[in-house]
Amino acid sequence: MSYADPACAYCPSTVRACRKGEAEDRGPGFCPSKVDPATQDIAHALYDDPETRKIAQQSALVESEGYCKWTRVEEIVQFSKRMGYKKIGIANCISFVDHAYTLTGILESHGFQVVSVACKNGNIPKEEMGIADSQKIHPGHFEGICNPVSQAELLNAHGCEFNVVMGLCIGHDSLLFKYAKAPTTVLVAKDRVLGHNPVAALNLADSYYSRLWGPDKPAKPPKLPPAGRKGSKG
Ligand code: SF4
Repeated sequence: MSYADPACAYCPSTVRACRKGEAEDRGPGFCPSKVDPATQDIAHALYDDPETRKIAQQSALVESEGYCKWTRVEEIVQFSKRMGYKKIGIANCISFVDHAYTLTGILESHGFQVVSVACKNGNIPKEEMGIADSQKIHPGHFEGICNPVSQAELLNAHGCEFNVVMGLCIGHDSLLFKYAKAPTTVLVAKDRVLGHNPVAALNLADSYYSRLWGPDKPAKPPKLPPAGRKGSKG
């Protein structure tokens, strides 16, 4: 860890002063409020953009009204209604077509138009991306590459105002985010081992999933600089 960079991950549970608006006073030396307040100010100003402000407001209201009551599917419906979206895109993994069907029905039942595109659309062979036959999941057979750029472009071209990702692979989801023009949320984060519940690996990182650690597992968290040193770089 460097005290030159923000490191909220190391903030002790007894501090986390930003919850109470006290980060500038009580935040550790690696707190963003200490390390880089100038960038925080730049980000703060970006909320003057009307769309950014509306998303920030409505997501906060969905959070508070549905807190521990609404599933994420319900949150997507409520958020989309409050934002005034009419047309929603689904970018799903080919293994999630049935889930996309259910989500499409739910969204349509609330009056939305829905566009859905599966990852394998476009029929691009993996070989075209420089992947050898021996590197496929099933060598000797056709394997189409996942095509998130096309998913994004199709959702863009068909007027989607908000997109929902369902089970895209690591990296493929990154390309979807890169090319999608509309705001995009994740309903399902793919984890083929953990039933699409990737946080389980972190919950069990010191027991069943200890294999996650590299060779330099830290023995203990880094020593904290004194709290309350405004402007300290630690
Ligand atoms: S108090 Fe500062 S360092 Fe701690 S979690 Fe909040 S922003 Fe991060």
